[in-house]
Amino acid sequence: MRDWNKYFMDLAIQASTMATCDRLHVGCVLVKDKRVISTGFNGSISGHPHCDEVGHLLNDEGRCIRTVHAEQNAILDCARRGVVTEGACAYVTHEPCEHCTRSLAQAGIKTVFFQEGYENKWNAKFNTDMHWIQLER
Ligand SMILES: [Zn+2]
Ligand SMILES: [Zn+2]
Repeated sequence: MRDWNKYFMDLAIQASTMATCDRLHVGCVLVKDKRVISTGFNGSISGHPHCDEVGHLLNDEGRCIRTVHAEQNAILDCARRGVVTEGACAYVTHEPCEHCTRSLAQAGIKTVFFQEGYENKWNAKFNTDMHWIQLER
């Protein structure tokens, strides 16, 4: 039996191997009508130095803020190329942070599949209009 969810999550896992901040390697694939419309991983702005080259850039809360997160990279790639994200699904290796959750909702993403849970007390404020589904490993 073909498993579409496993297929797209495996692609997201593959995307995560390109991440350049080793605090967390995250991959994201945006899918519409069973087709990948974009991919992303957490890394610096194109052309800027990466954490794995120059070290992390930590904010006051101890979060590394150098990278564009995988979900935002995937969404922004669609923006650059003029690809519609409305009604798409997101496959993400990890449960999105609150910033990405807001971005996914505002991009019109309807369903978010993720594998690794990431405790975040703010997500529930922003994911109410999306299906939020944790997949088995
Ligand atoms: Zn970093
Ligand atoms: Zn995020």
